Amino acid sequence: MQEAKYFTRQTGNRVICTLCPHGCLLADGEEGLCRGRVNRRGTLYATNYGQTISVNLDPIEKKPLYHFLPGNQILSIASNSCNFRCDFCQNFSISQQPQPTFAITPEMLLELCTKHHCSMVAFTYTEPLTWYEFVLDAAGFLQKHHIKTVLVTNGFINPEPLAELLPVIDAMNVDLKAMYDGFYKKICGGALKPVLATIRYAAKHCHLELTNLLIPGENDSDSQIESLIDFVASVDRRIPLHFSKYFPHYLRSTQPTDEKTLYHALEMARAELDFVYLGNIIHSHTTRCPQCGELLITRGTKTTINLQDGSCPSCHYPVYGVWK
Ligand code: SF4
Repeated sequence: MQEAKYFTRQTGNRVICTLCPHGCLLADGEEGLCRGRVNRRGTLYATNYGQTISVNLDPIEKKPLYHFLPGNQILSIASNSCNFRCDFCQNFSISQQPQPTFAITPEMLLELCTKHHCSMVAFTYTEPLTWYEFVLDAAGFLQKHHIKTVLVTNGFINPEPLAELLPVIDAMNVDLKAMYDGFYKKICGGALKPVLATIRYAAKHCHLELTNLLIPGENDSDSQIESLIDFVASVDRRIPLHFSKYFPHYLRSTQPTDEKTLYHALEMARAELDFVYLGNIIHSHTTRCPQCGELLITRGTKTTINLQDGSCPSCHYPVYGVWK
């Protein structure tokens, strides 16, 4: 088993995991809340190292990443662990329940990329930050072989492991679930502040996009949406923001988001942010130049990119993103 990178030893063979803000205090034999690590006689091990529950090829737009090599496929892999307990989890069968996994190595990921003519790998579906040691090793190896690396994450990690990880990560989509701590505590079993810190740090160190799932009655009020938009604008108004339609899943039976709410959020955000998109609905997924309105990217069965060296061909505005 792989020894975990972030933990401190305590008396009586106990350990504290210092990877994420939960800080699980574990007695000998105990498993962390994320099910990805266990204490064995006073040493913490990453039991999910090199074990995956899902391997697929997805369009990069499904992550969602709209400004990161659009129109390309990304090899997508997941661990069977998560440090949140979101009652609306769309992937609860692989994130919230123990399931059989199979072995994967960084070399196997490279082989799969070569076989499928794919130059990107995403650590996604469940919570990749709880797969920390494997993601760190695999992403470092893949980057050396010119494969881009992507994290789709809840952003719930401590600053030190995040700083060690980001040099081997090219892009992130962070799920910013709401702008009030009560939502994180009650609905996700997490906390807001560390997620905001991750977003601020990631914005300076890799390509970043954000997703916000609008759940009726929980985080879809004007004041909630406004506070989220203000936060994103305070970090960088160019960060693409994806508002996503909620559907009932797992433990939550609230009715799906009214599409009027999504369009309203879109209008509110467009006043302050350069790139705003809607997800989980049939909608025009185009990108226009925030400065002159020129059509830059169309997405659908075929992706068309109308950029010159990453800038608008009409007014030369540099468009936030990674284009080649
Ligand atoms: S990474 Fe897992 S074991 Fe470590 S503190 Fe977070 S939930 Fe607990």
